[in-house]
Order: sequence, then structure tokens, then C-alpha cells
Amino acid sequence: MTTFALIVAAGSGTRAGGALPKQFAPVAGRPMLSWSHAALAAYPGIDDVLVAIAPGAADQTRAILPGAKLVEGGATRRLSVAAGIEAAAARGATRILIHDAARPFLPAAVVDRVLAALDTHEGATPALPVADTLARGDALLAETVDRAGLHRIQTPQGFRLDALLAAHRTWTGPDEPTDDAQMVRALGGRVALVQGDPMLEKVTHPADFAAADAQVARETRSASGYDVHRLEAGEELWLGGVLIPHDKGLSGHSDADVALHALTDALLGTIAAGDIGTHFPPSDPQWKGAASDRFLRHAADLIEARGGRIGFVDLTIICEAPKIGPHREAIRARIGEILGLSADRISIKATTTERLGFTGRGEGIAAQAVATVTLPGTPA
Ligand code: MG
Repeated sequence: MTTFALIVAAGSGTRAGGALPKQFAPVAGRPMLSWSHAALAAYPGIDDVLVAIAPGAADQTRAILPGAKLVEGGATRRLSVAAGIEAAAARGATRILIHDAARPFLPAAVVDRVLAALDTHEGATPALPVADTLARGDALLAETVDRAGLHRIQTPQGFRLDALLAAHRTWTGPDEPTDDAQMVRALGGRVALVQGDPMLEKVTHPADFAAADAQVARETRSASGYDVHRLEAGEELWLGGVLIPHDKGLSGHSDADVALHALTDALLGTIAAGDIGTHFPPSDPQWKGAASDRFLRHAADLIEARGGRIGFVDLTIICEAPKIGPHREAIRARIGEILGLSADRISIKATTTERLGFTGRGEGIAAQAVATVTLPGTPA
């Protein structure tokens, strides 16, 4: 058995007020499409994931999902699925899951249930029982509809591929189907109802985007950074992004701002993105004498690109001289400016080492930092 997944992301509907088709709009810090793609790609029983896209949307899709396998869809959902399942058949699939990109949060347990049902059925769909009272009517209530036995149908829907291919190849309409299960059912195929999940709600309206953001737990991470530079005569002393008058300054390849370097490493640590040397190799001449605020800003940009937010930074500068106290507020303000962070989220401390060690002898300055960020985690 070879199981493929096909994500239908060919719609052109935009998030109200937004210019992007909604599958590219951010949900909880990531493009909507990337959530379900990641979930399906990580599911151990799925051999390959295809994405049905609107004609001309390949570059836009690859920008958020580099390496994704794309199939150009058609003018309707049905035609997009048809193109995707023919591509899956050509690649040897025998079972397929069809999933709507507008349902970003996909619990693995639902995929378990759908695939298990395919052992005994041609198709399977997750569904939730209807809880609200249902009514028919226009401006006036005409009839209350008995909700017993009624379900809201979700995706991913799973199929034996031969059954779904037959349904698509012989479909004559006249109405456009809203899902694939009804097409397989129309040919007499047996489609199992398995338990869906409220996490699978469609994200369509602006309020849905806000609700989806709130549904995603944010993960808190802290990481530390440490740095040392040598004090030498004839150098400027940059500390925490501030030029401080002193008889010696820090030497290094960049401006050697030990405080901003420690802070940059702490921020990079929160997203496990290596260290400052990974991003700005000292061997690269373009960083000679560079102002270190750009290193710090780069780390913050990487966190923002992950949907992260910096919650707090704490910096300790370790030296015998100069005295940091008189410059503390200036350093705090400068770091706040670089990171776009309010002063109450920035702590600046200083200590001596009682004239012990290299800092005590005034040969160098050390700095250590701790940063705490929150990142979009897995759906709660
Ligand atoms: Mg350094």
C-alpha cells in the first residue's frame, strides 16, 4: 500500500482585508498552508504529500514550502482534486487523503481513524455531530429540522485511490460537489464516518483567524549567551550599542560589543539557530569593524520569521572598569530601540570579579545574557 496526501490549496479567496489568498495568510505566525503540510509530511504512514495549487501560484507556494510537490489545479475544487489524484496515481499511490488547506490544524489521531477505516471501506471522512438546533426558513422560521443523525463533514477524507479515480472520471454533475466523499458515495462506494475534531474547523473569516491564533499554544523558551573581548588601548569602547568614554576599548573583528554579542547568541539560542559566528563568520571581511546592532537585529528578525516574540532579555556585563551604572539607562534604551522592546522587558546588570581573573586585571570584558521568547507551538 502506498498512501499519498493531497492538500487542496487552489482557491483564490482572500482573507477579508488581505491581498493574499487565504492559504498563504498567516495563522498563528505561519502561512496557513504550511501547518497541514507539516502535519501530513510528518505522519509516518504517509509516503508523499502533493499540493494542488491555482495556476500561476507555484512561485508563491514554493516561497513558503520549498521543495513541496505541486500539481496545477483547475477552475473548481473538483477539477483541482482530479488533477491531484491523477498525479498521485501516476506516482504509484494506492490510497489517498484529500485535505483542505483551510483546515490548518490536523490532529494525527484523525488521520489514524481515517486510514484505519480504509481497511474495510472505499472511503472515510471525519465528521462531528451537529449540536445546534437546525431550522429551515427564509425571513421566517418555516420548519425545525431534526438534527438526529446529522453531521458536519470535515477533511482529511481518505479513499482507496481506484474508487476515487472512478468517481472523478465518471462524474457528470450537474452540481459541483463540495467534497469527495459524496462523489464516491454517488457511485455506490461505502464511506465510513469517523470521529472528527473541533481543531479541524475551517479558517475562513477574519474572526476565524483570530480564533485559530488563540487556539495555538505558545511555547516559551529561554537560552543563554556568553562572550569575551580583549581590552586594548587605542580602541573605541562599544558596550550594549553605546559608545562609552574609556582609556581602552574592546578589540575584535567587528566593533567587539561583547554585550550585544552575548545577547545575540542568547536570542539565536531560543530558536536553536547556531551562534553569531554561524551567521557572521569572523573570516568574512564584510564584518570587519561592523556595528553589532545589525547582528542583534538579525537574530530578532529570525525569531520574528518563526512567529516568535521576545518576552524578556537579561544582560550582565562583567568588568572592573568602566563603571556601567552611569550608562545603564542609555544601554537599555539602545537595546530597546534595536529589538523594538519596551524598557520593562530589558534588564541590564553589571558586576566586577573582585580584581580576580582577566576581567579583574582589566584585560578584557565578559558579558552573559539570557533571553526568553515565545514561539507558536503545536495546537493545544
Ligand atoms: Mg564577540
